[in-house]
Amino acid sequence: MKNNLQLTDDGRLRHLLTLDGLPARILTQILDTAASFVAVGERDVKSVPLLRGKAVFNVFFENSTRTRTTFEIAAKRLSADVVNLNVGSSSQSKGETLLDTVANLSAMHADMFVVRHAAAGAAHLIARHVAPHIHVVNAGDGRSSHPTQGLLDMFTIRHFKGGFHNLRVAIVGDVLHSRVARSQIHGLTTLGCPEVRVVAPKTLLPRDVDNLGVHVYHRMDQGLKDVDVVMMLRLQNERMQGARLPSAGEFYKHWGLTVDKLRFAKPDAIVMHPGPMNRGVEIDSEVADGPQAVILSQVTFGIAVRMAVMSILAGN
Ligand code: ASP
Repeated sequence: MKNNLQLTDDGRLRHLLTLDGLPARILTQILDTAASFVAVGERDVKSVPLLRGKAVFNVFFENSTRTRTTFEIAAKRLSADVVNLNVGSSSQSKGETLLDTVANLSAMHADMFVVRHAAAGAAHLIARHVAPHIHVVNAGDGRSSHPTQGLLDMFTIRHFKGGFHNLRVAIVGDVLHSRVARSQIHGLTTLGCPEVRVVAPKTLLPRDVDNLGVHVYHRMDQGLKDVDVVMMLRLQNERMQGARLPSAGEFYKHWGLTVDKLRFAKPDAIVMHPGPMNRGVEIDSEVADGPQAVILSQVTFGIAVRMAVMSILAGN
């Protein structure tokens, strides 16, 4: 979903809604800014005053552990006032529309909305209706996009591999229902990764996969051969209407990442997962806890990346 809503007339980031169509210079600006924030988290005093006096509303209509928490930590490290909307008791369950909810929160002097919603396009809709001084960050909309996850994954790859230009990257599993996979693909192709592969059974690939600029594989031995990065995806059971797979056990047998299958990749390949992991379904514990896994680094870097996004949006 390309969208000029995201950029101001002079090319600065106004909202972060999707990585699709976002220029490489903006992605690199976010990654470089995040690099400067990593050190902040390692200091005794973990905050900087860049968002002092600003109100950030975390509005999550769908469950989240890592994303919501790291957005909250990131906003607090920028010295913002953070409000977490309790979705369970929100008025949406009483029939209020999304835009009415947002209008009411805007009346409470919000400066930034971080929004997660089960419907694709929810953050775009909000961005189209907020006052000019308010910024919107998409924290995951349906199966469409999850731009800050894509960015923190790019940050992690750049950190461990030094860049993108010589890399072979495999994205494995439920690509069809994954907003993370889409954001990863847009991030990798925009930043110049020459070979992005998706590895999945036919039933878990989107119909438009041929337009995404990726190489398609159905077998792990072929798809993982000589890759530098293996990015695993969770089976998004909550988005599957009707069983598209024989069973979780069968999925594990063919596409679950085990030590044996990881041997097809380069010996120094890194293993990533956006979480939450389903051990024994898409990934074996020996790999998840093994020396090649950088899964917890992804979580830590997520704070710096979200700080970067919010501070750039706020004009700092
Ligand atoms: N946490 C990621 C998301 O919200 C990945 C997942 O749920 O599997 O999309």
